[in-house]
Amino acid sequence: MKVIKHSFDGVIVGAGGAGLRAAIEAAPHMKLAVITKLYPTRSHTGAAQGGMSAALANVEEDNWNWHAFDTVKGSDYLADQPAVDILCKEAIDSVVELEHWGLPFSRLENGKIAQRRFGGHTVKEGEAPAFRACYAADRTGHMILQTLYQKCVSMGVTFFDEFQVLDIKIDDGVCKGVIAYEIATGDIHIFEARAVTFATGGFGKIYKVSSNAHSLTGDGPGILYQKGIPLEDMEFYQFHPTGIYRLGILLSEAARGEGGILRNKDGERFMERYAPSIKDLAPRDMVSRAIATEISEGNGAGPNNDFVYLDLTHLGAETIKQKLPDITDFVRTYVKIEPINEPIPVQPTAHYAMGGIPTDVNARVLSDVTGTVLPGVYSAGESACVSVHGANRLGTNSLLDIVVFGKRAGQSMVDYVSSTKPMALSDNAAEDLTNKIENLMEKDHSLEFSVPRIREELQDTMEENAKIFRSEESLEKQTKILSDLRDRYQNVTISDKGKVFNTELLEAIELEYLLDMSDTTVASALHRKESRGAHSRVDHVERDDKNWLKHSFAFKNGDSVKLEYKDVELGNYEPKERKY
Ligand SMILES: Cc1cc2nc3c(=O)[nH]c(=O)nc-3n(C[C@H](O)[C@H](O)[C@H](O)COP(=O)(O)OP(=O)(O)OC[C@H]3O[C@@H](n4cnc5c(N)ncnc54)[C@H](O)[C@@H]3O)c2cc1C
Repeated sequence: MKVIKHSFDGVIVGAGGAGLRAAIEAAPHMKLAVITKLYPTRSHTGAAQGGMSAALANVEEDNWNWHAFDTVKGSDYLADQPAVDILCKEAIDSVVELEHWGLPFSRLENGKIAQRRFGGHTVKEGEAPAFRACYAADRTGHMILQTLYQKCVSMGVTFFDEFQVLDIKIDDGVCKGVIAYEIATGDIHIFEARAVTFATGGFGKIYKVSSNAHSLTGDGPGILYQKGIPLEDMEFYQFHPTGIYRLGILLSEAARGEGGILRNKDGERFMERYAPSIKDLAPRDMVSRAIATEISEGNGAGPNNDFVYLDLTHLGAETIKQKLPDITDFVRTYVKIEPINEPIPVQPTAHYAMGGIPTDVNARVLSDVTGTVLPGVYSAGESACVSVHGANRLGTNSLLDIVVFGKRAGQSMVDYVSSTKPMALSDNAAEDLTNKIENLMEKDHSLEFSVPRIREELQDTMEENAKIFRSEESLEKQTKILSDLRDRYQNVTISDKGKVFNTELLEAIELEYLLDMSDTTVASALHRKESRGAHSRVDHVERDDKNWLKHSFAFKNGDSVKLEYKDVELGNYEPKERKY
């Protein structure tokens, strides 16, 4: 295999919102490269629809403390409150900064940035739904990604597009660089870099029905986990209430923010029973559970009673056209119905990883529960767990998270690079990886051990046993299944033996990350004997603050998972009963 060597001060892995925002901060101060397996503007940030929250108070009275209160309550009190304060305080400047870089936000009559309602965001600590989400119709993420990418291009940032990072080099606890695979040629590239930021996004592909792109396979968390770095709060995976039935394609919460209503088979607005004060705008964990409950009690619609309706018919053609153009087009294209006149069949869809690589508020990666920093390694965005989302993220807080903590990752890289000297990697630094690839290529192909076969079984069973409602029985069953799948994975084979765009080879490597993400999700869920936020145990239905106001840290321990715990950092808000 051809091996090519590069030398940089810093490398950012990922060109979604978090990676690009970090690059803008770091690029002027060091020799920097952004490495991305997708062309930058194809990153999942571009699929984000509904909005980015900030207490701008453009529509009504608002302030960042109310935003922080909602975020902490939404998180079911598992978020670290000092980090939440940073998120909500810095939100305001972050929106203004994006506006000044040219982001075309939707506007109010008076010219100010428009704001809409979103689940769990309220005024005066729960009084009524708040107008807090800044948006660009229902393509907010697309606009953020384009704006950040154009800013990077204007600054002359160096990109390695369609290069997939497959390994990190850490010697004696110090980061020295990463190894990447060039997708177009199959060549291996060694990147010397003493500061590395992982901004690789989420891992929704562990489930069958997901709003996530095919590429969201947990690469950053997987690479670090395999090197002994723990993953935090993996049991908290968010299911978004409104995926298109069976397909999982997302219909943004903005639809309910604009007044859309969920109805069961009898046309009943069932959320009135589950969250009397804010109804359809309750946080996602509650709405998803309500839908799952309606379905299990026989109130679902359709021949199999397995979906509910999202009703937009009362909003009128004009609002739908102006404020929800993209998602209503998805419905026309994929379900062949006209949302102006007909309700839309929806079901919860796997959407967002609250857990991930543990970091402090400066995006520095932590290697244990006592807060030991791994020098030179950073993470931001959905791959990281700061933790600002705790057990359940509020809608619009992720687009915010990626810019606030993306910027902080860039700043931390600058601090580190300016206080350390370049570090060399030996010419054989890629040996582990080239051996792994050669080993995968050598084996004769067999269907039983093919990537799609193992991946499909993984996704089907995770969907069945580790979704919205979990029990000791379902999680133990899944632990056994995962162990069998891992045994099968040891013999995984691929049919494409070529070098050019060998996506089958890369999917085989990604499948190992999916197994890692699933193992840590299931082990963390099995050990947490309470229900909190998105983690709902039918055999432990109460939240238990006495024993479980803690973050879980899952470490790789051979082929099994070892768990340790770290106390939640509280602040202004004592845990209370979570009613809406
Ligand atoms: C359909 C949808 C709608 C959403 N709507 C909203 C919303 O309205 N508001 C909100 O706040 N949040 C929303 N979210 C969530 C939010 O969009 C994401 O959490 C966020 O954009 C993630 O950004 P990121 O920069 O962390 O990762 P991503 O944007 O996913 O980018 C990941 C990057 O990592 C790169 N990468 C991954 N692995 C490797 C590797 N091994 N080597 C090299 N590069 C790699 C990819 O190429 C990509 O550039 C939505 C999510 C989805 C799926």
